[in-house]
Amino acid sequence: TAEKPRSLRVAVIPGDGIGQEVMPEGLACLRAAAERYNIDLELDEQFKDWATCERYLETGSMLPEGWKEKLSTYDAIYFGAVGMPEKVPDHISLWGSLIQFRREFDQYISLRPCKLMPGIPCPLSNKKIGDIDFWVVRENTEGEYSSIGGKMFPNTSREFVVQDTIMTRTGVDRVLKYAFELSNSRPKKHLTSATKSNGISISMPYWDERVLEMSKSYQDVKVDKYHIDILTAWFVLRPELFDVVVGSNLFGDILSDLGPACTGSIGIAPSGNINPEGDWPSLFEPVHGSAPDIAGKGIANPVGMIWAGQMMLEHFGFKDAADTMMRSIEIALESGGENIRTPDIGGKGTCQSLGSHIASLISKI
Ligand code: ATP
Ligand code: MG
Repeated sequence: TAEKPRSLRVAVIPGDGIGQEVMPEGLACLRAAAERYNIDLELDEQFKDWATCERYLETGSMLPEGWKEKLSTYDAIYFGAVGMPEKVPDHISLWGSLIQFRREFDQYISLRPCKLMPGIPCPLSNKKIGDIDFWVVRENTEGEYSSIGGKMFPNTSREFVVQDTIMTRTGVDRVLKYAFELSNSRPKKHLTSATKSNGISISMPYWDERVLEMSKSYQDVKVDKYHIDILTAWFVLRPELFDVVVGSNLFGDILSDLGPACTGSIGIAPSGNINPEGDWPSLFEPVHGSAPDIAGKGIANPVGMIWAGQMMLEHFGFKDAADTMMRSIEIALESGGENIRTPDIGGKGTCQSLGSHIASLISKI
């Protein structure tokens, strides 16, 4: 859905923990794809100490002054992971980096593929490749996660709290438009909307109303809606029902963790935080965090990072390169031997053995 630039300028931010380890593998794969398909790809590595807890401990902030102006000139941010929970609380590391990007760069779409991959055991029984292959689109800026509300009569028996949900027409319509466009670009052309209009009686009926209105502009897209409770059950019991699933900030948050979990893929799933118009940079990252327990051991699975790079190329319209990256990941997961696979997927290999195997496949398949 994004316009195709001739070239792609990317700010590379590895961050903390295994982010520093998986990033070089992601970059090697992107370089292999760019070389093969003649993409003018700039991977700017001057941001090695940005969004790191080390930096926070030294300077008191996760990002330097002027970060917004500096990053604004890039098409995308390729992000590793952030967090060092024993030394810096997550609300500081996360709010000082990723959440700043999301807000300041109006990345109003969170996009995650939920795809069963070869060589990765599925936690659901009787599912085969192809049965799970859908996208979760989450609204990323408003909805239930407003900070508007308050507490009254604290510490008394009359104590109560209120927190508002905000749905603006602009905010709802723009995420729905993205979801309809994505559905329309896929063979099944099927969009599922998450709702709860039988319980949340004002905001969710409004969401449903906007879905209905928007569907009139996309006659080819088959639309259905499920209440969030039964929808989560269907994710587990019948994931083959879905093609594109769209939800509000809260429902999308839940679904975008549940979806990838159903494919068994903590170390391999990617995520996009997208500003579809390209007015600001979009951000692509693995779903996993900094994983302090395995950091420094060289055994992190690099596939989440590499797949995030694949998503980035696809988003910017470099279809051939993205397809080749996807196939290379699949081949590596399906047939990469014990010495290539990382321990989390049953091997004795390293981050580097799996990463360089995928990079070499990208150059030659
Ligand atoms: P968060 O940042 O979401 O709070 P975290 O940084 O504490 O999470 P995660 O990175 O989400 O931890 O991972 C949870 C566990 O899953 C880790 O402790 C690690 O053992 C495993 N894990 C995560 N990512 C990978 C990976 N790429 N390769 C192998 N194992 C991983
Ligand atoms: Mg963490």
